[in-house]
Amino acid sequence: MIHSPMVSQPTASLVPVADGVFAWIGRGGDSNAGVIDTPTGLIVIDAQQTAAQGKSFRQFVEHELQKPVRRLINTHFHLDHVAGNVAFSDVATIAHERTVQTLHDTLGVPSDSGWEVSDSITKLKLFFGFNIEDLLATDDVGSAWFMNRVSGPGYDNISICPPTESFADRYALQAGKDIVRCEYWGAAHCDGDLVVHLPRAKVVFLGDLLFVGRFPWFGDCDLEGWVERLDRVLQMDVETVIPGHGPPSTLREVAVFRDLLLETHLAVRSAVRRGLSEDATVAEVVLPQFASMPRYDAWMPFNLRATYRMLRAA
Ligand SMILES: [Zn+2]
Repeated sequence: MIHSPMVSQPTASLVPVADGVFAWIGRGGDSNAGVIDTPTGLIVIDAQQTAAQGKSFRQFVEHELQKPVRRLINTHFHLDHVAGNVAFSDVATIAHERTVQTLHDTLGVPSDSGWEVSDSITKLKLFFGFNIEDLLATDDVGSAWFMNRVSGPGYDNISICPPTESFADRYALQAGKDIVRCEYWGAAHCDGDLVVHLPRAKVVFLGDLLFVGRFPWFGDCDLEGWVERLDRVLQMDVETVIPGHGPPSTLREVAVFRDLLLETHLAVRSAVRRGLSEDATVAEVVLPQFASMPRYDAWMPFNLRATYRMLRAA
């Protein structure tokens, strides 16, 4: 495929994963997106984490595939997947109704151009979950990274275009010979995660239900629900699995990631049942087989605290 030097160098790369199906893989583990080439235009899955990245993504794929984008699907509401929606403001955008509800509950009634978000705590909640303030209060040193993450060019003031269509359980789009099945299986990584499945191509886009090559952030996830959703993914007839972060993968990576989540859950549950304090749990629980992953050291304590609090509250 040839692309013109007129199109600016994007921060991600377009990887073909099946006939007419592409993954847009973020650089260095940044958020991914997807593209489905249909006879009537392109269906895009997720919109990148800034307006500029969304714009360069769209320009690149429309130029490369010589078709306009006709639909955008948001896999969930986290800003690293929806902040680029503004680059698709003329396109019908589909999300789960809980995704839309969460954005409305957090940001209020949108103006004609959508929502403007400049408050750091609101941005952190929409990036990392609604328990972020409680978690960061436990670690002044660790918090600095998070404040930095939502500051600076592209993040000071974030415009978000609301999804224009929503659904409760499933939604299907025709894509030539294939069908794009968007399904909601319940709360997991957040509430509103979509599984976007192309049965003929045997491809599934999992959004942040799957992280590959990087330790995950738990935030306010439903950990048991997340494991259950991945158990269901493992039953699917698919050859390619596109994670929310990381390279194109297979069910093998899904199984490994499901084990990471389950082992954390079981270890923290055991600590809670033995009456360990939260600090003692953070000191005790380690996952040696995952400890070399990027962000393990920084994020594991927060993940343990989030899991401990979730299990104590249950
Ligand atoms: Zn996410």
